Amino acid sequence: MTEKQATFLSELQSISSLRQISSLLGWDQQVNLPPGNSPSKQRASQRAVLATLIHREFTSVEFQDKLRELEQMEIDSNEDWGVILREVRRKLDRAIKIPSEFVARKAAHQSRAYHAWRKARQNDDFASYAPILEVTLQLAREEAAFAGYADNPYDYHLDLHDPGMETLSVAKLFDALQVELVPLSQRILGLAGTCKLPALKNFPVTQQEVFLREVVESLGFDFSRGRMDVAIHPFCSGNGNDTRLTTRYDADNPLDSLFSSIHEAGHGLYEQGLPAKWIGTPLGEAAGMAVHESQSRIWENQVGRSRQFWNLWEPRFRELFPEALSDISSEDLFKTINLVTPNPIRVDADEVTYNLHVILRFELEQALFSGELEVSELPDAWSEKAERLLNLQPKNDAEGVLQDVHWSSGSFGYFPSYCIGNLLAAQLWETAKEDIPELESLIEAGENERFLAWLDEKIHRHGSRMNLLELTEHATGKPLGHAPLLRYLEERYLVLYEQN
Ligand code: ZN
Repeated sequence: MTEKQATFLSELQSISSLRQISSLLGWDQQVNLPPGNSPSKQRASQRAVLATLIHREFTSVEFQDKLRELEQMEIDSNEDWGVILREVRRKLDRAIKIPSEFVARKAAHQSRAYHAWRKARQNDDFASYAPILEVTLQLAREEAAFAGYADNPYDYHLDLHDPGMETLSVAKLFDALQVELVPLSQRILGLAGTCKLPALKNFPVTQQEVFLREVVESLGFDFSRGRMDVAIHPFCSGNGNDTRLTTRYDADNPLDSLFSSIHEAGHGLYEQGLPAKWIGTPLGEAAGMAVHESQSRIWENQVGRSRQFWNLWEPRFRELFPEALSDISSEDLFKTINLVTPNPIRVDADEVTYNLHVILRFELEQALFSGELEVSELPDAWSEKAERLLNLQPKNDAEGVLQDVHWSSGSFGYFPSYCIGNLLAAQLWETAKEDIPELESLIEAGENERFLAWLDEKIHRHGSRMNLLELTEHATGKPLGHAPLLRYLEERYLVLYEQN
């Protein structure tokens, strides 16, 4: 490494340290802040100071000069340093183009919009929120224009979450998926509707903690380099040697804690697998939202809901909860774990219908950005799409267009990542089974090291060297497609329910 590279690297890493500090404050806010102090103005101002500092350092003339000097050297764009410079340039260009006046204006509006959304959802009153959402949308368009996407603002928001993705490519994937998934989900729902399943009640939380820790550890999550705490909304933060998971407990909903913990552990395994040497640079960062989501979903669904996984874990589950499970047969337990049922709420949806919830939001966002749809028309458009895609009608707007927090914070283009993550998870799973023919027996034996090593080789160790589409090709030898997800859902759910 030349002296110039070393200086640049040390600056880049100190900016990254500031980001890590901010993220740690965010973790602390969710895990440790006394309830009387929430929402905390003190914490908000601490994080605002850091955000300003980060922006100032990152966009400073000195930093830009150093970057430019390195860019003038001859470096292969595929080499480590080529990737670092390319990614820093991409982010810096964006940070420079968006004026600080706009950033402040957007932040002020966001906090208003969040409160307005909460109130509207509580009172089931979309009309009071609509004018505010219009401003949010306007700001999102403005931001895209600053970044050079005036003609295709939605592309900007997709690219923010998953570099390289565009409206057209997402639409192509989702259109192909829904043509087959709508009838498939209706078929599975029809079969599942005839099952009568028991409710899982009275699972002592202390025992749940024991179970979750054993499961998460067995997946390969390294507790000597990470931890798990309780928060209202489960999430994963930190990275490398300090990766933090959170979960929540409910004695009458043990599967919620279990699967959200496995999900977050999947995110955590990705963070723990990023190359330690490059933490603080783009090579030590994940390749985007959808890739991250593929890592959480593959452990949660492909592994965690599989027959093999439950053959392994059911005895221990029964040992810890003998009373709660005494009247529940193995088959009923497995079907409850893989329950498919109509649900108007995305976050409560099963993995079959979940993707249709995402497609619904993608189509609405696309129409909002293209100007085809007015904000005031959202509730009707929502109902029409819910009917067509999910064969259900929300009872009210709180159950429909007001259910998600994302739009209130201006997060457009975020939802698609969830479904793309599922597509990638299924595609990776198919390839992993070809590469490791005994994969399912290994899972049944609790030997997850080889699968984790496979994910590490295909995904984790590359950081953001490749974007979503490149990484998919690299890992699976094929372009990202919709067919593996359909094959996986058919195999798992038709087999499960047609046995009735
Ligand atoms: Zn996730």
